[in-house]
Amino acid sequence: MQTSGIPVDRSRPSDRTATPSQPAGNRVAPAPRTRVLVVEDEQDIAGLIKHTLERGGDTEVEIVESGDAAVKSVGERTPDLVILDLNLPVLSGIEVCRILRARPNTGSIPIIMLTARTSESDRVTGLDVGADDYITKPFSLRELAARVRAVLRRNRTESQAPPPAAIYRGTHLLADFDAVSVSVDGTPVRLTRREFELLRYLVQNKNRVLSRDRLLERVWGYDHFIETRSVDVHVGRLRAKLGSASHQIETVVGLGYRFVE
Ligand code: CA
Repeated sequence: MQTSGIPVDRSRPSDRTATPSQPAGNRVAPAPRTRVLVVEDEQDIAGLIKHTLERGGDTEVEIVESGDAAVKSVGERTPDLVILDLNLPVLSGIEVCRILRARPNTGSIPIIMLTARTSESDRVTGLDVGADDYITKPFSLRELAARVRAVLRRNRTESQAPPPAAIYRGTHLLADFDAVSVSVDGTPVRLTRREFELLRYLVQNKNRVLSRDRLLERVWGYDHFIETRSVDVHVGRLRAKLGSASHQIETVVGLGYRFVE
């Protein structure tokens, strides 16, 4: 994910510097505070995350140190975002993610997973059980803040927006998903049904890493017993047909694919 274009606002004063006598209502345009739940048993890491996210003054961070405490906390008060370490006592991050995703009232809470750099399979599993993004340890706090902003922004856009746009218009690519029509630089491109559905799913989830398993599940469906390798084959064919727009389908090594704008 490109993070360089995401402004990290460091200029706003922290709430902690406000004098106690100043009523909260006097703040200019008081926006609802963003609530972030950090699930991490390593206290120094959790503390650094809390410090970083609360610095801007518009975010409130709660820390819990175990998976079961996370499920309990989310059930009591829904956060705007969960930062979830994979390695936790009692319930693992993966299990917590599964539980939250399976419940209707918590199913759409954005989740960023924290994973160890060495554990590629954990990252894939994390994305498969529905995490929105992942960050590998050790991470920079600046990157973390940028990811949090990106995920929150994406979530707000998605929750406000009507169903995904039926038309995608890029520099080279024009795809009208209702009309089942795709063209590159004005020239129509003939796609197979599967290639078309693959493109549609990638575009609908643009800028998001999609694992091969997730693509299989969403594009091919559960009933198709095919190998994850065929995702690569189909992506290869799709890229070849997209010509000057082919670079928009990125390979994310070890993880899957991402449609970038
Ligand atoms: Ca941990």
